[in-house]
Amino acid sequence: MPDIDQILETRFGFQSFRAGQREAIQALLSGQDLLCIQPTGHGKSLIYQVSAVALGGLTVVISPLLALMRDQLDHLSRRFRIAAGTINSDQDETENDETIARASKGELSILFLAPEQLDRVDRLAWLQGLDIRLLVIDEAHCISTWGHDFRPSYREIGRFARRLRERADMRVLALTATADARTAQDICKQLAPIEVHRRSMDRPNISLNVSAVSGFADKLRLLDAFLHSESGCCLLYCATRENTEIVAEYLQNQGHSIAAYHAGMPPERKKRLQSDFLAGDFRAIAATNALGMGIDKADLRAVVHVDVPGSITAYYQEVGRAGRDGLPATGLLVFDPDDRRIQEYFIHSAQPVPSDFDAVRDAAAEPRTITELKRATGLHPTRVTVVVAELIEQEFLGKEMQKRRQVYTATGRAGRADLSRYQNQHTVRTQGLDAMLAYARGTDCLMHTLREHLGDQESTPCGHCGPCRGEVLELESDGAADDWLANRPVVVPGYLKLLAEGRALFDSGRRSGSFVDFMRHRSAGPPRPETLRALAALAKKLGPDYTVVPLPSSTWGGRAAAIAALGLPIWTGLRWRTAPDARQGTLLNNDQRRANVRGLLAVDGTPPEGGILLLDDYTGSGATLREAARALKKAGHEGKRVPITVARVRWRLGRPGIV
Ligand SMILES: [Zn+2]
Repeated sequence: MPDIDQILETRFGFQSFRAGQREAIQALLSGQDLLCIQPTGHGKSLIYQVSAVALGGLTVVISPLLALMRDQLDHLSRRFRIAAGTINSDQDETENDETIARASKGELSILFLAPEQLDRVDRLAWLQGLDIRLLVIDEAHCISTWGHDFRPSYREIGRFARRLRERADMRVLALTATADARTAQDICKQLAPIEVHRRSMDRPNISLNVSAVSGFADKLRLLDAFLHSESGCCLLYCATRENTEIVAEYLQNQGHSIAAYHAGMPPERKKRLQSDFLAGDFRAIAATNALGMGIDKADLRAVVHVDVPGSITAYYQEVGRAGRDGLPATGLLVFDPDDRRIQEYFIHSAQPVPSDFDAVRDAAAEPRTITELKRATGLHPTRVTVVVAELIEQEFLGKEMQKRRQVYTATGRAGRADLSRYQNQHTVRTQGLDAMLAYARGTDCLMHTLREHLGDQESTPCGHCGPCRGEVLELESDGAADDWLANRPVVVPGYLKLLAEGRALFDSGRRSGSFVDFMRHRSAGPPRPETLRALAALAKKLGPDYTVVPLPSSTWGGRAAAIAALGLPIWTGLRWRTAPDARQGTLLNNDQRRANVRGLLAVDGTPPEGGILLLDDYTGSGATLREAARALKKAGHEGKRVPITVARVRWRLGRPGIV
């Protein structure tokens, strides 16, 4: 057996292993497969890094959220001389091809792979030809339907591991910070035979607290006060992309150095945000849980949950990113009992029903890509992904490459799909949410509650959480945050180089009186004078020297009044080539909405030079604005194109209408 102490010292520069690391590495080297359940910050990655060096060949690490791994890769190669690469969808094909070439030539020691890559027929075939000695499954709870975070893309992993094992002498290392007894059992069943190493879930340096609020404005005020009292780096987790933007914008206005981060941002921007945050260019980041394991920042002093997470396991994992350097850190949950509804919506949208399975099977009677299936069925996009993965596993669907596209086709297998997995999932998610809400309302030691829930037998009260100290976070009342929230222009997302980020006056999510009034009287005539004034002010702020290009509309009665009110040069050369078949609001998901308007806008004459404000009454999926920008660009427009609308609405997915 290789001398792992020597590897630790000469390659990694450490004198000794932390608790549990040596045992795990020795078990792997002696040929055992292993499931390690231990808290974040206990050096799980060192287990596979040392093993990778000791075993030679290639170690494949399957992990979600690889987009942010760039720094870790650099670190591995510079500091430890371990050649590592990654394949994931946030990299462009050239970067992925480069990694593939290096791995094929045997130049890599560690290959990080996004689980979605295993869904690709071509990728799977390629992987099976490599000299893989160790397969690491990070966030292993994702493979279990009993886990809080089961992912359809993880289901290929069990099969992949079995196939590799048949072929060669290969070890499996499954890692997770959170697996209760049932989840652990399920992981073991899927990866059997495998041994379990479980460590204490205590994080003694994290002080937990819960602060009850009512309404989003209260949350904003509380976060402002919190950031004033906390001087270290903070991660603020939000449940939705929109909330990350609101939180960051409000706190910036209050003078804090903070940015927003979510999966909907362009890859380059995400990369820059990550490196700026790691470099300390701003102190706090408001993020969805898309910012996960990649955030390799040991000195986070606080993890604040702005919205309640869906389960204790999810919460423990996220809050565990605080204080990985062992110094004192805070885990704060900002709790509004109404947040339950957001989580219930998440549970509902991921939950397929029998008719969804029929719809996907019918749509796949002819070969279709995943986007085409979404468009054809009109289902919520998450459900299509879930249902497709399940139908493949149950052999009702097959997948293959046609030219460079991966398509799905019904296999002709008769009978109905077995949906018991989704009944499990629904039970797990509902119970998980109930337990999380009980934590939020609880009066017992918070760390003890978490540890007990995660099956930690040795748990005792921590002595320093809110309830242990009898501490309640109080908040002074003032209406400024409410006013700001009600009157805040909302972001209209940009799209690549086609469309810059713009603004809308009203947001359907907040259901303000002005929004409801505008939508109700939209077709009748001019908007209220104060709405027109606000729109004109917004336009001047977005582009004082821009030309306004209104989108054609037959249903907006106030269009002429709005154009006139802006007081900027106007150009009206945009028209429908033919009217779309359906109104966007009556369609079922954004893939249908994009198809509904594709190629239908035309430009008469030569577009104006310089910046353009694209004006419309409201925007939902953004598909029409993109088409307008596309048409203008095609007609030779080269300047910036910025959308401005009176309202931004959020369409339901899988059903018609506004959320
Ligand atoms: Zn306590």
